[in-house]
Amino acid sequence: DAAINRIAAGEVVERPASAVKELVENAIDAGASRISVDIADGGKTLIRVTDDGCGISPEQLPLALSRHATSKIDGSDLLDIHTFGFRGEALPSLGAVGRLTITSRVPGDEAAMIRVAGGRVEPVKPAALRSGTVVELRDLFFATPARLKFMRTDRAEAQAITDTIKRLAMAEPSIGLTLRDVSGGGEGRIVFRADAESGDLFDALHARLARVIGREFAENALRIEAEREGIRLYGYAALPTYSRGAAVSQYLFVNGRPVRDKMLTGALRAAYFDFLSRDRHPAAALFVDCDPTLVDVNVHPAKSEVRFRDPGIARGLIISTLRHALADAGH
Ligand code: ADP
Ligand code: MG
Repeated sequence: DAAINRIAAGEVVERPASAVKELVENAIDAGASRISVDIADGGKTLIRVTDDGCGISPEQLPLALSRHATSKIDGSDLLDIHTFGFRGEALPSLGAVGRLTITSRVPGDEAAMIRVAGGRVEPVKPAALRSGTVVELRDLFFATPARLKFMRTDRAEAQAITDTIKRLAMAEPSIGLTLRDVSGGGEGRIVFRADAESGDLFDALHARLARVIGREFAENALRIEAEREGIRLYGYAALPTYSRGAAVSQYLFVNGRPVRDKMLTGALRAAYFDFLSRDRHPAAALFVDCDPTLVDVNVHPAKSEVRFRDPGIARGLIISTLRHALADAGH
């Protein structure tokens, strides 16, 4: 129902960057190895995500647009989330507040497309596409003028999209990601590009962090790896001498998903406490992995908060591991 979808959309999609996050996470879930994102006007007029993932069959296309019909999780295992999807709400929500076109092809089938604008779904049509999926979202919030007003400048929205893409890129070093600004038409301008990294977990992550955060970070980063009571912590944390001034470079992931969480950033600050100053912040990219039943990542669909069943374990693990690593490195 269009009204419900528009209300849900307010929860799932706050701004163009949240639409980008949902669409790229879907591509990741689809097993893509290359994902490219084109945006125009800060994502307000166009967001297009192209992937080489498993595709959606013509029969499944309408289902992808119906609320909860496709959810990768159901009510019975809300705490057991292995994929990124939030209860099958993203595509119906985006189709309710913008003009959405999905073109897709599964191997061995014909390509097809479906369109929905302002909640009005059109019938599936044949299309031309070699493989994978192209999701195109135009005129976000055209159907909800009140929401339009909350969008910031094109520049600010584009910046938020770049930040979202960089976080997703760190979480998925083996996936090639490109962000292009096609505002002027034509080929557009490459804003961010990271080719698929190879090697083991740490090598691939290190190479990806060098690409996303910078060489200097990677060269000054300590390898972090620890485990306690079913919670695994790994990643890279910069030496206290590495400083980007007031710029904050803190990237935290829980079960592969980028999060912004007060408890986790608090633990990071506590670990670096002796080295902090007004223009010296901890810089790190840390991954916390645990059994999905020990953490709720769906506190709110659009917010990247998490709730640990026992926050003390994760906090203690981060503080003690980082302090030991810093001390071992002579700090
Ligand atoms: P969820 O991700 O929670 O399942 P979404 O509304 O984001 O809900 O997506 C609905 C469904 O559409 C997905 O479950 C998936 O089956 C399908 N889908 C969406 N995007 C893609 C994609 N890029 N490739 C393949 N399937 C997709
Ligand atoms: Mg999804």
